[in-house]
Amino acid sequence: METLSNFLWMIVIWWMFSRMLRTARLLQHQRQLQEKEENQIHSEQTDRESGLEQQSDVPIEMVEDPVCGKFIEKHHGYQLSRGTETFYFCSWDCREKFIQEHLKQPE
Ligand SMILES: [Zn+2]
Repeated sequence: METLSNFLWMIVIWWMFSRMLRTARLLQHQRQLQEKEENQIHSEQTDRESGLEQQSDVPIEMVEDPVCGKFIEKHHGYQLSRGTETFYFCSWDCREKFIQEHLKQPE
């Protein structure tokens, strides 16, 4: 009878031990995952920060619309080239007006 109870105890101890090992491994795995996530968040933040820096480095050139006098961002304006000059307009209408007034010779 004593041998049997000893045997049962061994099984119980072995079972508890294996459970502990599994829990420890799980915790380690979770910690690794957490660390990986933290690293990812960190790298995303630095990416965003460098992106902002890049944006602020690009100068926004403002140009005046010769028709209505509005200031517009150069890369958003409607372009019109005449010889070496380039004009920028806030809208297609202003561009058309300019062509009517300055480029088309009166008959
Ligand atoms: Zn305009």
